[in-house]
Amino acid sequence: MSSHELPKTYDYAEVEQRWQNSWRDEDHYFDRNSTKPQFVIDTPPPYPTGNFHIGNALNWCYIDFIARYKRMKGFNVMFPQGWDCHGLPTEVKVEETHGITKNDVSREEFRQMCRELTIGNIEKMRKTLRRMAFSTDWSNEYITMMPKYFGKTQLSFLRMLKSGYIYQSEHPVNFCTRCETAIAFAEVSYEPRETQLNYFDFDGIEIATTRPELLAACVAVAVHPEDERYREIWNTSLCVPLFGHNVPVIVDEAVDPQFGSGAVMICTFGDKQDVHWWKLHNLDLRKAIDRNGRMTGVAGRYEGMTTKECRSAILGDMKDQEILYRQEPLEQRVGTCWRCKTPIEIMSERQWFVKIKPDEISRAAHQVSWIPDHMLLRMENWVAQMEWDWCISRQRIFATPIPVWFCKKCGEMILPDEQDLPVDPATDRPKKSCPKCGSTECTGEEDVLDTWMDSSISVLNVTGWDGCGMPPYFPAQIRPQGHDIIRTWAFYTILRSVALTGQRPWDQILVNGMVLGEDGFKMSKSRGNIIEPYEILDKYGADALRQWGAMGAATGSDIMFNWNDVVSASRFQTKMWNVARFALMQIEKEGKACNAEVSALADRWLLVKLSRTVAEVTDAMEQYQFDRALKQIREFTWEVLADEYIELVKGRLYTGDTSRAGACVTLRTTFDTLCRLLAPFIPYFAEECYSYLSEQSVHKEGWPEFSFADDRAESEGDLLVRVVSELRRYKHEKGMALNAPLGQVTIYAMHSIDDEGDAARTLNADVAWSNCRADLEQAITGVQFNMGVIGPALRKQARGFMDAIKALPKEELVNPPGTVRVGGEDMPVPKDSFSPVYAYMVGGAEVDVINVGDVIVTVQRST
Ligand SMILES: [Zn+2]
Ligand SMILES: [Zn+2]
Repeated sequence: MSSHELPKTYDYAEVEQRWQNSWRDEDHYFDRNSTKPQFVIDTPPPYPTGNFHIGNALNWCYIDFIARYKRMKGFNVMFPQGWDCHGLPTEVKVEETHGITKNDVSREEFRQMCRELTIGNIEKMRKTLRRMAFSTDWSNEYITMMPKYFGKTQLSFLRMLKSGYIYQSEHPVNFCTRCETAIAFAEVSYEPRETQLNYFDFDGIEIATTRPELLAACVAVAVHPEDERYREIWNTSLCVPLFGHNVPVIVDEAVDPQFGSGAVMICTFGDKQDVHWWKLHNLDLRKAIDRNGRMTGVAGRYEGMTTKECRSAILGDMKDQEILYRQEPLEQRVGTCWRCKTPIEIMSERQWFVKIKPDEISRAAHQVSWIPDHMLLRMENWVAQMEWDWCISRQRIFATPIPVWFCKKCGEMILPDEQDLPVDPATDRPKKSCPKCGSTECTGEEDVLDTWMDSSISVLNVTGWDGCGMPPYFPAQIRPQGHDIIRTWAFYTILRSVALTGQRPWDQILVNGMVLGEDGFKMSKSRGNIIEPYEILDKYGADALRQWGAMGAATGSDIMFNWNDVVSASRFQTKMWNVARFALMQIEKEGKACNAEVSALADRWLLVKLSRTVAEVTDAMEQYQFDRALKQIREFTWEVLADEYIELVKGRLYTGDTSRAGACVTLRTTFDTLCRLLAPFIPYFAEECYSYLSEQSVHKEGWPEFSFADDRAESEGDLLVRVVSELRRYKHEKGMALNAPLGQVTIYAMHSIDDEGDAARTLNADVAWSNCRADLEQAITGVQFNMGVIGPALRKQARGFMDAIKALPKEELVNPPGTVRVGGEDMPVPKDSFSPVYAYMVGGAEVDVINVGDVIVTVQRST
């Protein structure tokens, strides 16, 4: 394609579609036979909702900037794409779509429906990824619900079971009664809520509780050892009102005597503190609430009620029995299920757990470099407050099955052989009999695994883990992820990597911020401030959206979405396209083979600036400071290249004399470099521009190593640029057209400078660079009257006075006489009524003088 075909306007829709169709997936594949250094990115597998949201878009922009940059730097890059499929939202969606509940069909049928929905959603999201020009390595795509992947999840489970990291036990866990499943501590979110604190008579003492429905589960009353009010009832027992069972009174430092009445009831379980006391004091277990959130037989006549019904029934009964003293409103933070916001219950259940070894995790976390580094602190704080092991069993369907059977006769665990994985113990039979008693009667584990068990081995999966030794590409070089999942995905990944390999999972972790709405709030349906990537793609194209991602904020900070940023991104492309059209046409005219020496000052000056830009952008890219990198490129293009350089050399290019070749070579070098610098950020635009320079894709080129040092060219070029811009301003102030002839310009630069006529052509002036001191004479060329003084003092005689002053010899303008003669009379000269006007003269001709820093520039205007 040749440059005279360059269209006037940049049609992003046409250009982006055209390149998307012509790029080949193979160009982004990780090469297992490569001798280049590897750069493996442990990318986040999104949940396949079918909608790639703006937060994903930001995260992926960062990943793609890195992938493209590292490829250009000569790395063998793996940019895999995973899909974290399992989980409740899909189950709920399937139930809605098919109008069923999960119990209406067989487990396998239900799973099939979930898989079909998920595949459809993945296909939609793949389209968005392609449209955004992410250089995904599709040969390393993984889908966690596929046997190939979840077989590895099961293998990791068995390995950790055998090494003692995984165990099953009856233990209190966080439980969502709506989702009917245990959840991990990291999945509990805390929300403020107003509740009631109920004061009631508990066998003669006053107790305050927010959860009267747990009265049936009361197993003790606790008081503080220094609370004198309760000294008499220490180590006695009390009778639980309405239920009648006796509970001990225990003494514990952890009781807050200031809260309520200072006596608290301990229930199994109201909160984490109850669990703590229950263990410490070896108390009974009374399960009053079942998995569906209904009262059990322990609750006597309240059995079968929901917790809410039970609460009002109990309060009603307390009122009837006149044991409810009073109720006060209370603000409290309630733990809720992060998916459905239902308040969680703490229940003791047989569950599977992963042991958490804080020291081990902390040590590995410290071996990873965190960007920005304060994110490590978040991880440390989380690790430090770990009290419970990670509950990994879930009572759901669409998830990785726990690969375990139990012998019906003796209860022994029966494990599959690793080579038989994946298995579904709910439908498959073990290939062997009970290792302990030989029985062939067994039951399959129906519980399934937490989805974090799938996604926390993403890094093992992409680095080639198969259970035999260290994975070949482990550890990965970088993990990009949001700060909202440090406690989950980052934490679990480190835990699992250490447990399965003994090592840290990555060299670096890059933590990105969240995208906030235009109003500064988290995007949500209820606020109506959600921006969908496709809106931006339709209106401004992928490159504009990508620039927004780069420019929005420093990596790690939250970004407020702002349409103006997208608009200015698109404006930059328009500006750059105009510059490119001009430059590429000139290059074309000169012939691509032209290899002229670059000798003109302006040319060398631009190359110095370009070289500095390359160094700064490279430095920013190395530190993943995308906002800084793109800002440097934009400033160079807009200010240095377009506003300064091109304006300066336009004349040279138009005259067509021999030195135009140097400008063309300079422009070609600059455009070649700029396209490469822009390639990671705006791949479509960079490719389009580059296609006019080369047959080869810019994405197969190396990162620019361009370096050009010439201190003298830089300082002289800076002066040249400043002088030209000051003289332009001068022309403007004098009301002259920019191309109007200016006359004779002398620049007293103190040493000889040769600009090859660029200043003269761009200013339409005779320009002389002088290495002498400016030999300026000051001369009086006129007089300036102060009418504010003359008008009131002289009134009608003002005209005559002014004529008389004008007629004075020049010396007397500097030292005014006391009187002047006007109309034959001496008239006193009022103080401050005029002042002399000076001008500068060079060799007898009047000039205007302009100071550019220390340099004096004179202009002798043509008349
Ligand atoms: Zn829930
Ligand atoms: Zn057995």
